[in-house]
Amino acid sequence: MTMTITTTDLADFAQRHRRLFVLTGAGCSTDSGIPDYRDANGDWKRAAPVTWQAFMGEEATRQRYWARSLIGWRVMGQARPSLAHHALARLEAAGRVELLLTQNVDGLHRAAGSRRVIDLHGRIDSVRCMACEARSPRAALQAELLRRNPEWAALDATAAPDGDADLEARDFSGFDIPACAHCGGLLKPDVVFFGENVPRERVEGALGALAQADAVLVAGSSLMVYSGFRFVQAAVAAGKPVAAVNLGRTRADELLTLKLEQPVGEALDSLASALGERS
Ligand SMILES: [Zn+2]
Repeated sequence: MTMTITTTDLADFAQRHRRLFVLTGAGCSTDSGIPDYRDANGDWKRAAPVTWQAFMGEEATRQRYWARSLIGWRVMGQARPSLAHHALARLEAAGRVELLLTQNVDGLHRAAGSRRVIDLHGRIDSVRCMACEARSPRAALQAELLRRNPEWAALDATAAPDGDADLEARDFSGFDIPACAHCGGLLKPDVVFFGENVPRERVEGALGALAQADAVLVAGSSLMVYSGFRFVQAAVAAGKPVAAVNLGRTRADELLTLKLEQPVGEALDSLASALGERS
């Protein structure tokens, strides 16, 4: 595409396709202080996140994960919605959102007031026991981690998108992780790790909403992860147009009807305002 795409084009797109299936990614949360995983080329900015296999299989990986998470949670746990989240909540209030499917685990869409939300990759503010399925608040685990590991509380590090954090190379072997209070099972953040399957009911719920939608709007995602990209593929296969607001390349660039390379907060805010004026 060589022509310059503007927010007016995006508003026209949304005017033609009234029920939107919105798919969001990390770019929606960077203004909330949660850093993005990937650069403008869709490549990792840092070491790839921990995998499901490593987390479930290795005590040392879990110690490293929770030690880093202890620091990263300070940012993640206090993040507040920004312009993009509020704009999407306005779109939903205007009856334009069939479903908001987010790849983010920060819960900020609900915090902004969106209700038709599926958290594709789970929620970082929740902890799940892998044995008995009991769920508990991440905030409660934070208190317990601090109680057991007071020497780690003073450390500071740069927060990463999944509530993880970059720590200098350290010995994590002394880090003390509590087990499930009910059954002694292994605790895991209630998010989908790399190498882990998305629960089937979430995928089916999202595909059901996609079938009802007129078009897809991708906001702040490079779509590099297949679990998100697959919904764009499904939309195109069903003949539904796809628009994207993203700074930088996306995996779906060749499939897009319209692509707006702008900061996602500004673009969505303009869109919500334009639709508010037109309706
Ligand atoms: Zn348990």
